[in-house]
Amino acid sequence: MDISYILNHLGEERENYFNAVSPPVIQTSNFQFKRVDDLRKAFANEKEAHIYTRGNNPTVEILRKKIAALAGAEDALIFGSGVAAIAAAVMANVKAGDHVVCVSKPYSWTKRLLTKFLPRFGVETTMIDGRNISEFEKATQPNTRLYFLETPNTFTFELQDIEAVVKLARQHNIVTVLDNSYCTSLGQRCIDMGIDIEVHSATKYYGGHSDTVAGLLIASKKMTDRVFVSELLNLGAIISPNDAWLLLRSLRTLPIRLEKIRKTTEAVVDFIKQHPMVESLLYPFDENFPQYALAKKQMQWCGGLFTVTLKVKGIEEMEVFCNSLNAFSMAVSWGGHESLIIPTCSFYPKEHYDDSVYPFNMVRFYIGLEDPEFLIEDLKQAFAKIE
Ligand SMILES: *Cc1c(COP(=O)(O)O)cnc(C)c1O
Repeated sequence: MDISYILNHLGEERENYFNAVSPPVIQTSNFQFKRVDDLRKAFANEKEAHIYTRGNNPTVEILRKKIAALAGAEDALIFGSGVAAIAAAVMANVKAGDHVVCVSKPYSWTKRLLTKFLPRFGVETTMIDGRNISEFEKATQPNTRLYFLETPNTFTFELQDIEAVVKLARQHNIVTVLDNSYCTSLGQRCIDMGIDIEVHSATKYYGGHSDTVAGLLIASKKMTDRVFVSELLNLGAIISPNDAWLLLRSLRTLPIRLEKIRKTTEAVVDFIKQHPMVESLLYPFDENFPQYALAKKQMQWCGGLFTVTLKVKGIEEMEVFCNSLNAFSMAVSWGGHESLIIPTCSFYPKEHYDDSVYPFNMVRFYIGLEDPEFLIEDLKQAFAKIE
């Protein structure tokens, strides 16, 4: 389906709302029925009918259609956060006694779900580095039900070979879940590559304006039917109609934002790479990236996140550099309009810094919608403070 059609028209039945070009926020909890038979029919198909907003809401429904089509999937469910979509995808496919294989550096709350939360319900997880398919083979047990992938991750960008993992999963009847937040569905076609469930933090690129927290679960209709009656309706971590509307508004500009971010990131990466204060750079589309070939094979687009280590003498110098940046805000998250940094030396108290997890001289950058010259000028003056 044409991306322009999806973003501008799909799902928008304008004759139902005064031919308004922009869809309304249907801010209602419930919907009325005139006849018993109409209500009976709706009960029989709650996922598509309009009964109650914890199930299906017309504003959210437009978003569901667009999100599914952008990923080339049959259906999508929208959640109140990325974490809610991730938890729903995993929990819908495991029960007590089951086993999960997960990559070792996923999003922090994914790790906590699998290593702290689900063990309470009898679900165990083996964490593997995931860069080599043989690790999946070795970790797979007779009771393994699910592989959880995040490729690339959003700090050091380790990749998994999606097609190889899908092939192995199918041999063992294992469900694959992939957190595709880094690339978006436009930048990495993981449903086409055979992934069963694609999940996203829509708080990042889909929202794109640092004003909305949301999550996406994209899969076959059979799978979303299952998640809908179980995790979505039972745990109730839904998105509000107003936040769904904000996401619809953001979607209109998703491709142009991604294109601008790619171009600016390339320019900033080129500047950073040659700077004498830079020790190393991690960026999947950089030719020296260890998994560059795989990145080029399975990703059509590389995001605004990259990580550098600096040639600084200690944490003090690292702090001077970070505190001197003005165009980059120091903050968690990413995917919005504004460029960000997050230094590893902020993760621990200064006195007890544990260099074995992340070196102290590392900083992750996110490139937003500013112009490259503006960002590079700022980097120059911050580098000058520590040179
Ligand atoms: C932010 C993030 C999440 C969590 O999403 P929320 O919307 O904050 O719940 C999950 N995965 C990745 C890769 C993320 O960056």
